[in-house]
Amino acid sequence: MAAQTYSIESERVSESRLHGLDINNVPFGKTFSDHMLVATCEQGRWSTAKIVPYGQLSLSPSISALHYGQSVFEGMKAYKSASGEALLFRPHANFDRINRSAARLCMPPIPEEIFIEGLRQLICLDANWIPTKPGSALYIRPIYFATDESIGLRPSERYTFAIITCPVGAYYAEPVKLTVAHDYVRAFPGGTGAAKAAGNYAASLLADREAKQHGYDNVLWLDGIHHQYIEECGTMNVFFVIDDVVVTPALQGTILPGITRDSVLTLLRDRGVRVEERSIALDELLKADEAGTLQEAFGAGTAATIAHIETICVGDRILNVPPISERKYGPQLLKALEEIKTAKVNDPYGWVVRVSGA
Ligand SMILES: *Cc1c(COP(=O)(O)O)cnc(C)c1O
Repeated sequence: MAAQTYSIESERVSESRLHGLDINNVPFGKTFSDHMLVATCEQGRWSTAKIVPYGQLSLSPSISALHYGQSVFEGMKAYKSASGEALLFRPHANFDRINRSAARLCMPPIPEEIFIEGLRQLICLDANWIPTKPGSALYIRPIYFATDESIGLRPSERYTFAIITCPVGAYYAEPVKLTVAHDYVRAFPGGTGAAKAAGNYAASLLADREAKQHGYDNVLWLDGIHHQYIEECGTMNVFFVIDDVVVTPALQGTILPGITRDSVLTLLRDRGVRVEERSIALDELLKADEAGTLQEAFGAGTAATIAHIETICVGDRILNVPPISERKYGPQLLKALEEIKTAKVNDPYGWVVRVSGA
């Protein structure tokens, strides 16, 4: 069989919903741009991807994604440069990751032409939806899920891939407060922690709700076996600075391999900072706090880029991380990443992809 080639069709909205909307001030994740991309796959063959007006999908209540969670997603952002170009940050890394997530859930790979070229055309078309206020961006949500109309448990033969986008402001304006999750785990060896699988997030909601009921913003997740080693915070990778060494948990299958995490490690190594990817026991954190060597803590992920961590509740102890004004790494990384993503500075890594001219 000859290799399939792919094309993208598009149907534009007759009137943009952008008029009369202040995209620099919208609530997170509720206002969607004019268009979306939709492609379907049946027995490994992909349909023509279509860019269509944002709207409803018609789906049967029997589709397997709804019953068994064969569903993965991505999170990325488009930014605008000062000269008005639409920019993406490391989109190929998201493309690779969604296909790794898909493989873990027995789903066929999405062709690069559909994901990357479809994304490029979609962002070009809705470039006016990219907000320009500092810290804001157009959030991009690729989703990929099983659509077999059957409640038999097996990998689906039909799938839908879609990309929707929504303007978002800065995610965490304030530093975050964490509490260690003692009663729940996010992931375990052999599980799906390294995949951006929808079910992981459903499983985290109760821990998150209980943390919020106690006045915290997010949970600090521990490993599923020893309940001792730090893994992630909320839906971000986590970093600590102890005695001028930047440490983050090593990727061993239970941690989501964040693109922000990887970018942070690259920037730090290039600046000659000592970084370590290794196991971090909660005890080590408590000892560093007692010794006064815990200098910083921050989360890293696309939504917030860098979320400074203010306090961490560990059972009956509260660790107070030094104030942001005394921090060296987190604030600098936030600034450096935002400058690269918006093309304010030169990008020596080839991370930034321009999707449209000014
Ligand atoms: C998406 C995600 C991250 C961050 O990944 P980025 O590629 O940096 O956005 C970290 N942890 C979890 C659990 C996630 O879902």
